[in-house]
Amino acid sequence: MQGSTPYDYIVAGGGLAGRSLLSHAMWAGALKGKRVLMVDKEEKQANDHTWCFWETGAGPFEPLVHHRWEQLHFHDGNAGWLLQLSPLQYKMLRADDFYQYTDTLLRTSRSIEMVKGTISDITPEGCAMIDGEPVKARYIFSSIPAQTSHLPKTYHYFLQHFKGWMIETPMNLFDTGKATLMDFRVSQQHGPAFFYVLPVAPDKALVEYTLFSPSTLNETDYDDALHYYITHHLQCSHYKVLEQEFGVIPMTDQPFASHNGNIIYIGGAAGQIKGSTGYAFQNIQRHSAALASLLLREQPPHVPRSGQRFRLYDSVMLQVLASGKLPGREVFSRMFDRNSTGKVFRFLDNQTRFSEELGIFASLPKRAFLQAAAKTFSRLYL
Ligand SMILES: Cc1cc2nc3c(=O)[nH]c(=O)nc-3n(C[C@H](O)[C@H](O)[C@H](O)COP(=O)(O)OP(=O)(O)OC[C@H]3O[C@@H](n4cnc5c(N)ncnc54)[C@H](O)[C@@H]3O)c2cc1C
Repeated sequence: MQGSTPYDYIVAGGGLAGRSLLSHAMWAGALKGKRVLMVDKEEKQANDHTWCFWETGAGPFEPLVHHRWEQLHFHDGNAGWLLQLSPLQYKMLRADDFYQYTDTLLRTSRSIEMVKGTISDITPEGCAMIDGEPVKARYIFSSIPAQTSHLPKTYHYFLQHFKGWMIETPMNLFDTGKATLMDFRVSQQHGPAFFYVLPVAPDKALVEYTLFSPSTLNETDYDDALHYYITHHLQCSHYKVLEQEFGVIPMTDQPFASHNGNIIYIGGAAGQIKGSTGYAFQNIQRHSAALASLLLREQPPHVPRSGQRFRLYDSVMLQVLASGKLPGREVFSRMFDRNSTGKVFRFLDNQTRFSEELGIFASLPKRAFLQAAAKTFSRLYL
């Protein structure tokens, strides 16, 4: 950090959202002549996330795609079937590749300074306290999660928690052209629970046990479930765990502020994590591109809120889960079984038209969803 002249922008948090924003801003040419500081409390080298998402064609971080699949298995607990994605692809990107690539990219800009530091406070006037030192900027783009002890009861708060093992098997076990999106052959006693299997080589796959519930499990519960699934369903009793991943993603319908004075929220802190699925990668790319375009035009970086009705659908879905009346696996099974795969993925990405959404709703159990919709309406609006 140099001198007492304020920066144009501080990017508080150099994770997915901070680095995506700066990459999009660089590509748009929005940082020419600007002074920008990116601050993170960590070095950001480890593979602390594996991001999966779907899209048609090439995305902004295409060279980093570690693996992609055009066919996905779905197993509702009783029967399995194959989803054909084309022209969509389900893609996997490793965080260590993303950090290395964006480090190199952002270092090519003379505008950007990257430092390691802990931010203890950010004021709406545009001052960040970095390792005890006040540093000012015109705008501070923050992805630092808010520390809230009070969660208003009006909203639902679930956790999507998961543990994944990258395993290596002694024989070629996997078809690298097919991944498993959801396999519900696991106890549903804690809430919706399923496995992902993402093969990256014939003898290597990321197997992930995921649950949607109000609290996490004991570590051994994840390990036992993973071992059981690998031995019984993948039918492999000898395997090596090469890497592990554990994560907790908040799933909520609580509204998030887009800004507070000169603080502009990005990433999870801006509510870019979809309440009903936990996916955020594509939302973050769209938000970053929209912010970059405003910065290029020297306009206040306030991206208009869109997708209001999708937030309502997320609330209804969380209400269905909270009521416990309808198993989550039935909802996802019906959705994927009775609609075209492309339409469901576009729906889960907030990209469908209302007329298409009517077809999706018609495939879901009406009574449970109508009750949940009525409850959601009274919970949020009355
Ligand atoms: C393990 C995991 C896997 C996920 N997988 C997927 C997926 O497959 N697909 C998908 O769409 N979404 C996924 N998500 C959800 C979402 O995409 C990620 O959470 C994403 O990283 C959110 O981006 P972000 O920039 O908001 O947060 P982060 O990437 O976590 O970045 C925030 C940064 O802020 C820094 N920071 C925090 N506090 C301070 C502080 N006080 N001072 C300085 N720096 C600070 C952190 O070190 C971090 O680097 C996953 C989430 C997790 C946790």
